[in-house]
Amino acid sequence: MDGKYLCAYMKQSFFFLVLLCLLYGCSSVNNVIVNGRSDYKIYVSDSASRPEQVAAVELQEYLFRITGFRLPVTHEWNAQDKYVCVGFRDAPQSLLPDINPQEFGNEEYIIRSDGQHLLIAGGQPRGTLYGVIGYLSDHLGCRWYTKDVVKIPERKIIPLPNRDDRQQPAFEYREAWYNEAYQPAWAMHNRLNPSIVPVPDSLGGSYISYPFVHTFYNMVPPEKYFRQHPEYFSEVNGKRVGRDAQLCLTNPEVVNIATQTVLSWIREHPEASIFAVDQNDGMGYCECKACKALDDAEGSHAGTLLHFVNQVAAHVAREYPNVKLQTLAYAYTEVPPKTLRPADNVTIRLCHYNYCSAHKIGGCNDHKPFVERLEQWRAIARRITVWDYFTDFNRYLMPFPNFEPVKHDVKFYADHQVKGLFAQGSNMPSEGGSEFSTLRAWVFAQLMWNPDQDAQALIDEFVNEVYGAAAPYIQEYIRLLHDQVKPDSVYFSIWSEPGEVNFLGTETISKADSLFVLAQQVAKADDRLSKRIELAYLPVLYTKLYFHAMGESAYLSNEQAAEAVARFRRIVNENKITRIAEGEDYGNVEAFLAGAEISQHFYTDWWVIGPFDNENGKGLVTVFPPEKSADLSAVIKGKNGADLKWKQLDRRESGYIDFLKIFDPSENVVAYARKTVVADSAGMVKFGVGSNDGVRVWVNGRLVLDRQVARRARVNEDQISVPLRKGENDILVKVDQLKRGWGFYFSEIQ
Ligand SMILES: [Zn+2]
Ligand SMILES: [Zn+2]
Repeated sequence: MDGKYLCAYMKQSFFFLVLLCLLYGCSSVNNVIVNGRSDYKIYVSDSASRPEQVAAVELQEYLFRITGFRLPVTHEWNAQDKYVCVGFRDAPQSLLPDINPQEFGNEEYIIRSDGQHLLIAGGQPRGTLYGVIGYLSDHLGCRWYTKDVVKIPERKIIPLPNRDDRQQPAFEYREAWYNEAYQPAWAMHNRLNPSIVPVPDSLGGSYISYPFVHTFYNMVPPEKYFRQHPEYFSEVNGKRVGRDAQLCLTNPEVVNIATQTVLSWIREHPEASIFAVDQNDGMGYCECKACKALDDAEGSHAGTLLHFVNQVAAHVAREYPNVKLQTLAYAYTEVPPKTLRPADNVTIRLCHYNYCSAHKIGGCNDHKPFVERLEQWRAIARRITVWDYFTDFNRYLMPFPNFEPVKHDVKFYADHQVKGLFAQGSNMPSEGGSEFSTLRAWVFAQLMWNPDQDAQALIDEFVNEVYGAAAPYIQEYIRLLHDQVKPDSVYFSIWSEPGEVNFLGTETISKADSLFVLAQQVAKADDRLSKRIELAYLPVLYTKLYFHAMGESAYLSNEQAAEAVARFRRIVNENKITRIAEGEDYGNVEAFLAGAEISQHFYTDWWVIGPFDNENGKGLVTVFPPEKSADLSAVIKGKNGADLKWKQLDRRESGYIDFLKIFDPSENVVAYARKTVVADSAGMVKFGVGSNDGVRVWVNGRLVLDRQVARRARVNEDQISVPLRKGENDILVKVDQLKRGWGFYFSEIQ
């Protein structure tokens, strides 16, 4: 045998050996399952906890689905047999030479082998169960993307792991406010421990904050105390207020009552992980002499807040030394106090409220104050959790290209030692109630467990697996929106309206339309995929209907509207979407559709003149020359003595007459719009008016609408029926302006 031949022979044998190893497993490595056969059993102690019992069955079920072999679950251990040991209880010492099960956190686990047995075990109550999920996902590739799309790879061989895998989550508290994330099995498989709808104890339980949030009135109910003790409640503008406000936090009686309430919660709710002692939503902090003095001295309303919470916390610490309280640092309490410090048993729940949604924290200057406050709170608080916002509150269904924050902010918080994260999306009574809600819920869940993962890869994985053959089009749609919000100068918030953002232009929407047509074409044969694409398309359709209702004909012609409305209604019904915004009014699906269905013609070719003075808000009721004469050639003195002339607006695609773009100056002013409407015959006509802010309308010199309000312009907010005469009719509109938006909608409703 010459050297060359020997070499080839050795190569061949080596290849054969490797092949053998791959097919049947090397003799030196034990495999749990090989080719549908196994001599392993799943061991779980009969005294194991309920979630551990569930973990054993879960492991059995998924191993069966992966390999086709169902390992028996047993409570008996025979020394000569081989086991997958679920939970620490009764595990042989060969598996635990160097670890102390008592040291495992409540969600921490280890996956390891001693060469014979496999151990999957963790702390109580959820560690072992999460270990099984970690084993199925990290080791065997299982995924639970949506309740319908689950990935279970088929495998011939399940080897024993060759090194330890010990994990615990980056955050003790992980909640993503999307309806999908509140299905107990989904939450458990993706290892969320939400508070609002807790995971049942049998599936590991949750991190429960009791009562969830905004608890001042729970502690000191106005209906019980306000009549006799208005002094317990906020003084606002010199008056005590028992509604939509806060408590008088320097009143010792308030501290006593609140303390008694909190102590009763602790007695009655042993399931809670933490108790919420925090401000109500909205404003209305107390301005009484004592509260104001303390807040002034501390440079923040968090002064009175901590002064109060710390007193409650001191009582609680005496009776329940291990109980934790939390309080919000939110809106008017976001700035930390100068000298006060949260007590050791008080967690600060800091809210990243109403910062730029286009960019990650640190990605633009808008987040700077928040970063400073987070650092300041970290310097004085033992423990911080964060409440952050990832949806448009006004328009859950609006496209919302904020994947940069979604991808990066979870890690930012983990890197800043934040202990818990609540990602506020769009809680809905049904799934799919906001743009990409399932994708968001899934990505958040993965990152909240381990924020060091490649977030873009997670998004890509979800899109590829859930949208299958149509994934490239969905990816392109996501890019189409996100590319437009990259520049620093772009800003949108959780309150932005579709008309206020830069990424919903007609060109974008028309490209999006094409992409979804292509996506549907490749999905054709797969009805379930087609429905998922349809749901992903809903935000585009929403945008078209939204603008159509505003009189923007470039998004949707009148002829296309009926079909679009029918399609929208079908998709929301199929997905049981019943609310499309945080607030009741914007949230009503039928009200939204009624706006899109209404047949109306927007008046846009107005003659306009202004600005006139509106000092002290008197402009709307002050009679300026346009109210006395309809002469469009007149030169009229306006604000600051300027000579004003009437000018005619072009016909336009938008129904909104934006005075901000027409007049200067545009603060504390009023302006007019005038138009002649020709009627074929005399009769009643219905007009729809929406204005920002107050409005007066005259028809043929007669005042027919008078709304002295500060408001956002909404199509048809006021509807009036007025008589027109045959021939020419003079319509005069006057709109006043304080700050920011200024303009109106005016349409004839058929
Ligand atoms: Zn007060
Ligand atoms: Zn920004």
